[in-house]
Amino acid sequence: MLVTTKEMLLDAQAGHYAVGAFNVESLEFVMAVVKAAEELRSPVIMQTTPGTVKYANLDYFAAMCRVAAEQASVPVAIHLDHGDGFDRAVQAMKAGYTSVMIDGSHDTFEDNIALTASVTKVAKPLGIPVEAELGKVGGKEDDGPAVKGENPYTDPDEAREFVERTGCTSLAIGVGTAHGVYTETPHIEQSVVKAIRSVVDVPLVLHGTSGVPDDQVAEAVSNGICKVNYATELRQAFMRGFMGYMAENPGTFDPKKPNKPGMAEITDLVKVRMTNLGSVNKA
Ligand SMILES: [Zn+2]
Repeated sequence: MLVTTKEMLLDAQAGHYAVGAFNVESLEFVMAVVKAAEELRSPVIMQTTPGTVKYANLDYFAAMCRVAAEQASVPVAIHLDHGDGFDRAVQAMKAGYTSVMIDGSHDTFEDNIALTASVTKVAKPLGIPVEAELGKVGGKEDDGPAVKGENPYTDPDEAREFVERTGCTSLAIGVGTAHGVYTETPHIEQSVVKAIRSVVDVPLVLHGTSGVPDDQVAEAVSNGICKVNYATELRQAFMRGFMGYMAENPGTFDPKKPNKPGMAEITDLVKVRMTNLGSVNKA
């Protein structure tokens, strides 16, 4: 069933678990992620970045995810990840996304508030939840440049003020993670998660989670994270399965054949992550 992220994340917050948000790149990703959710009876969020949306368009991805959601026996939400402006966020809502992120984290504090508030004003009457971001999740985000050397932590007092003034329904925070592939083991600063949780009452979101050890993620969930994003490692999983098949069967010309082990790799990975997040049997 197709749902918004609102109830899903509030349920997770109340139940002290997190819902996985998995970036989907194609029909194969969509089918593989939903399969994992159904097998584990877990709620699930499928999301696309503007970079992925440019590859096809919002309508294609919305339609694909909507069909998957309507046929699924578990709650499925379709989320715009890293919405890069007011227009894109509104287009996503029109296309049928049931949740959007507006990412003003590269702007000043005041500009981020103004941008986020402009989106929540449109989304609220439509019943569409809005994720915002405050602070810096480092690394290479979508198809943008790599970010390095900035203070990665979100300030708890700023977070409280930000949520009050913008009306955002969930908040992505900087706690030491980064997007893309890690060159050394990342460290989630748990004290920052706890400090923000104690002053902010909306669900908190963790970005840049591919490559973060599961025990650190589980601890962050116990400290108040309710949505956890995975993108890079799904791509890696798919390509591992696909390329592995092609290496063994180089003459293959039917894409369905290498797609199958690619999808199986994604489903296996998503099940491991859902289990770690505690969302199994929460559908
Ligand atoms: Zn992100």
